[in-house]
Amino acid sequence: MTSLSITNPATGAAIAEVAIDNAAAVGVKTARARAAQPQWASVPLAERKACIGRFRAAVEAGIETLAATLTAEVGKPIRQSRNELNGLLGRIDFFLAAVERSTAAETVFSDASITERIGHDPLGVVANISAWNYPYFVGGNVFVPALLTGNAVLYKPSEYAVLTGQHIARLLHEAGVPADVFTTLVGTGETGAALLAQPIDGVFFTGSAATGAKIASAVGARMIRLQLELGGKDPTYVCDDADPKAAAESLADGAMYNTGQSCCSVERIYVHERVHDAFVEAFLATVRGFKIGDPADEATYIGAITRAPQLQVLEEQVADAVAKGARLQVGGHRIAQPGNWFEPTVLTNVDHTMALMRDESFGPIIGIQRVHDDAEALALMNDTRYGLTAGVYTPDAARAQAILAKVNAGSVYWNCCDRVSPRLPWSGHGDSGLGVTLSTYGIQTFTRPRAWHLRTP
Ligand code: NAD
Repeated sequence: MTSLSITNPATGAAIAEVAIDNAAAVGVKTARARAAQPQWASVPLAERKACIGRFRAAVEAGIETLAATLTAEVGKPIRQSRNELNGLLGRIDFFLAAVERSTAAETVFSDASITERIGHDPLGVVANISAWNYPYFVGGNVFVPALLTGNAVLYKPSEYAVLTGQHIARLLHEAGVPADVFTTLVGTGETGAALLAQPIDGVFFTGSAATGAKIASAVGARMIRLQLELGGKDPTYVCDDADPKAAAESLADGAMYNTGQSCCSVERIYVHERVHDAFVEAFLATVRGFKIGDPADEATYIGAITRAPQLQVLEEQVADAVAKGARLQVGGHRIAQPGNWFEPTVLTNVDHTMALMRDESFGPIIGIQRVHDDAEALALMNDTRYGLTAGVYTPDAARAQAILAKVNAGSVYWNCCDRVSPRLPWSGHGDSGLGVTLSTYGIQTFTRPRAWHLRTP
């Protein structure tokens, strides 16, 4: 295979043909990145910041074009594509404001004879292997701080978001980042695997737990920085003192935004028996109000399923749940039209024998389970191999605090969900991954500390 055929998942129509980088091309690009990186690292931080500032301005000026491309290649509703691009601007602002304080050399001890200082050196050449579901977010979380801290980046966009990857490269180069300092590698997992075989100094991966495990075994023995941002099966618990309608409206959005294809989508809901029925009624009313349709239409809320094989995963989860006693309240089927479409789907009377409550769904489907008390909810929330996010809805801060402190997850939410902040560390426990993006930790991760012991003669 020498080229990738890009199709619009909302229509099935071919929209572009893009040449693939084979192993030889990956080798050449890696060598060029390695040759270019020391010069980039020696550019004053103020100049690297100016490049990223110009990139930010170009993204802002080009939002309509960039959003249209994203919508065409991944099927994301156009308003949600714009939201992602605006979100990227906020993340860039954070990185620009925080890079100095996160990486400035710091004298931690000094007396008459010795000074001890911590410095931060770039890793060198890093691989940024990316997912398609939020290419500007998950890519930008890596390449923006990596470039700011003086690294060269070999960027492998998902094969489902190649045109977006090409836009990113063009805008970075026009903003002054040298071509060999940010290089795009086009292809499937094969191109990604070829990249892992190269002499690189770090791998920053966003994608599924299954691919993450392959990457960990491919590079684990090489002693290079390894960061894995993987999937989730994110739970939320609605307590008996919560407002069931407000919680339902918030959680329906958390489960179905981006057509359920978010790493931090709400994937399991536990509801206290006292508010269960009112919650389900309000949840169904909200879901029935979601507009499904052409992702380019401003009114659309539910778009296409980006990858066709995921339709079968969704069908199987519904069938398995129904066979084991779940009640299908709405949806449950493919929508028979060109492209990849699945109805927003809600199941109740579910339990943890069902794949729906254990395996990542990554689509607009959700199971709602009745629970008797906080202890049962907590046990169920922690009954997972994942640990990305978890939430609790209750007006009682102390109750939420008591539950959330015991949840095994990198991010916890009180009365909110499906939320990422550039100021806070983004990390997963268990099969949700390894390492941290965002926050000052997510800047320092692109550097190595150097310990300076300076004895005055
Ligand atoms: P994926 O694992 O199929 O692919 C991710 C990337 O890895 C792609 O670029 C792909 O080409 C590449 N790849 C595949 N096989 C490879 C190999 N053997 N060696 C090197 N690279 C290889 O995942 P996806 O479908 O693109 O993304 C969806 C998944 O990503 C979901 O599980 C989602 O939860 C997760 N995700 C996690 C986060 C997070 O922050 N934790 C964010 C977004 C998405």
